[in-house]
Amino acid sequence: MFYYSIKNTQYRTNFKEALVKGMAPNQGLFFPEKIPILKKDFIKNIHKYDINDVLLRIIKPFIYKVISEYELYKIIIEILNIHYRIIKIKSRFYVLELFHGPTMSFKDIGVKFMASCINLFLQKGYINKLTILVATSGDTGGAVVNGFYKIPGTSIILLYPYGKISNIQEKQMTTFGYNINTVAIKGTFDDCQKLVKQAFLDKIIQSKCLLTSANSINIARWLPQMFYYFIAYRKLIQYEEIINNDQVLFSVPSGNFGNICAAILSYKMGLPVKHLIASTNINDTIPRFLNNGGVYSPTISHSTISNAMDVSSPSNYCRILSICKEFEIIINNLSSYSFSDELTLSTINKVCNQYNYILDPHGAVAYLGLEKYLIKNKYNKSQGIFLETAHPVKFTDFMPQHLISKISETSRLNKLIKSPQKNILLPNNYEVFSNYLLSL
Ligand SMILES: *Cc1c(COP(=O)(O)O)cnc(C)c1O
Repeated sequence: MFYYSIKNTQYRTNFKEALVKGMAPNQGLFFPEKIPILKKDFIKNIHKYDINDVLLRIIKPFIYKVISEYELYKIIIEILNIHYRIIKIKSRFYVLELFHGPTMSFKDIGVKFMASCINLFLQKGYINKLTILVATSGDTGGAVVNGFYKIPGTSIILLYPYGKISNIQEKQMTTFGYNINTVAIKGTFDDCQKLVKQAFLDKIIQSKCLLTSANSINIARWLPQMFYYFIAYRKLIQYEEIINNDQVLFSVPSGNFGNICAAILSYKMGLPVKHLIASTNINDTIPRFLNNGGVYSPTISHSTISNAMDVSSPSNYCRILSICKEFEIIINNLSSYSFSDELTLSTINKVCNQYNYILDPHGAVAYLGLEKYLIKNKYNKSQGIFLETAHPVKFTDFMPQHLISKISETSRLNKLIKSPQKNILLPNNYEVFSNYLLSL
């Protein structure tokens, strides 16, 4: 499989180069040259195959020849050590829990996949050293630390918006040291993302180190996110909640739109998806884009309680355009709605009271998206699945006291909360940031 740059379709490269580079020249995102189509028979009988074989079959064409089938299989087995649960909340509302990984967010899975690939490249001598530079809105940081901590040959630099992420998210990345460097920026997540993009274009920095990203712009983090949708679909068949080839709905809490973009890719590969819902907080660039006939106008980003989605210029927007080609195709397959913090909190309360299930703010936004879609499309009979992308314990800063006492995981995090932080604080200024990078 080759990948082309969305900014310049003449620019082609293989999986290894696309992973190591992170982005093509001029900040072009990589995109697979051909989307493989799975056989109808395979989808119909997906519950009869071993889950390892299912995931292998999905990812193999994207990586073919760079990593052997045997190595890929080993990576998949590691990823499947993380549990994935699907729970019925009420009629037509299923929650897919993706937070059972080590840092309790869905990002653990994509990062783990990427880290395993890099580890393999280092072991085989394809690369000697790699610097991973990442802007995080909260959860990527912890996942990257967990994936890369003490991996020889890697140096990690994480940027996050100062004062705009939860206490636990901050501790999950700033308390480690060793090959992990954490920088709080006095600005928003979009500012952090801009500094990172600028560093990628900086020839002096490029000459000093081999630089890659670990956001969903990196294909090695983005592509394995397709697994969630196949896993969820297969589980609903196994539990006899749907029958083979029934179509389903997915509501995905969206920030940089990498995850929903992986859902679109899964649909293109043949997963029977009726419709996709990208649910956002008040950072509503994509809902406005869809509702204003395709006018794209990002504004500044706002801080919310679903902070991992405080993004106003979603980096995967251009990938959505690449997959769907025309605006008409996008709106036929994808709806997007935005919700306030007030509604998010009242939904967390409501779902807890009525169904005894505690949502985190991101999952609550996804729940709201599914609810809104089902109200607007009364005749659609498909089952709906919404994604719980982080454990509620990560957001207790924002949750009402009576709910916090019901969250059971707190003890696991006490040690982390007491550990000292090793981060530094920098202004939102590229020159200062680049000097810091060069001093490492
Ligand atoms: C990163 C994140 C999201 C947004 O995912 P994108 O792929 O950037 O759209 C949603 N929820 C949580 C908890 C996250 O950490």
